[in-house]
Amino acid sequence: MKILVVDDSGFARRALIKLINEQLEGWEVTDTGDGKQAVSLFRQHQPDLVFLDLTMPDVRGEEILEEIRSFDRTSKIIVVSADIQQKTRENVMALGADYMVNKPINAEKIAQALTTVMC
Ligand SMILES: [Mg+2]
Repeated sequence: MKILVVDDSGFARRALIKLINEQLEGWEVTDTGDGKQAVSLFRQHQPDLVFLDLTMPDVRGEEILEEIRSFDRTSKIIVVSADIQQKTRENVMALGADYMVNKPINAEKIAQALTTVMC
């Protein structure tokens, strides 16, 4: 399984990758802090699963989500954000996200997200 992690915070990426590592075996991860690279990395690696931050300096996660969904409907996309507003959640789900996790993340939230999108 291939996973792409997109978050402008290196700390957030490392924390997330550590939690995924504790819960999944046999996966290959690509990660980037540069939102502008996210779509080309997606095209290059064709991940099964994407963890996507919303708030990044150069590009909104919503734009990345919309662009990926314009050509791919099969990958699972989990939005990870500190934005807990209901309208944000509704918007990302309408744009084609499969699940949304609120920061700060922990093992339970990531386990729940993985279970939900993998079934
Ligand atoms: Mg961010």
